[in-house]
Amino acid sequence: MCKFCYPILLNKVTEAPSKAQQKWQNITGKAIDNWEELYLIPRKCTMNIAIQNFQFKLLHNCIPTNDILYKIGIIETSTCTFCHSAPESVLHIFWLCEETQAFLGKVHKWLQDCFGENFIYNMSIFLLGNDELSPIQNCMLILAKKYIYNCRVNGKLPSFKHFLNTVNKIHEVEKYIFRLRQRPRQYESRWLNVILEP
Ligand SMILES: [Zn+2]
Repeated sequence: MCKFCYPILLNKVTEAPSKAQQKWQNITGKAIDNWEELYLIPRKCTMNIAIQNFQFKLLHNCIPTNDILYKIGIIETSTCTFCHSAPESVLHIFWLCEETQAFLGKVHKWLQDCFGENFIYNMSIFLLGNDELSPIQNCMLILAKKYIYNCRVNGKLPSFKHFLNTVNKIHEVEKYIFRLRQRPRQYESRWLNVILEP
């Protein structure tokens, strides 16, 4: 190994995980060593700043959920906005909640219709993204999480039909931007497999 690269690599290996990274390792139950790739996914998968920011906040553990809001005295109960039967943590609202799981079951079926039956993801991939997925696949996973969070904020249960409307709106905006930038082929190849009809 070159003598210039080794100190850089050593520094990277010995760098302690941040508090947010440690929390994600606890949630997923595994050591995560590709944070740089995970932080790049939002920028690679969409031009939409609101979608990028959402995933960036999630990765940095800056999405407020009822367990935290209760802890700091802002609200009177920590229970989940959707099911009212468990504390609302990040893991609960975005994955474990039965209402979320019912919604995600439909999202998963739709994603398999779009990208093929081999498109399978686990909790860790859904929450953090995966640099082996295509940009549009990562984008759809972020959109599903952002939609779940919007439902939580508005006190409504996630609905697949409503989610598909959201995807359609995002699609229209991207189509417009790609057209403005005169990149029709890039737009077509990106959205080619996404089924936008109910
Ligand atoms: Zn719940």
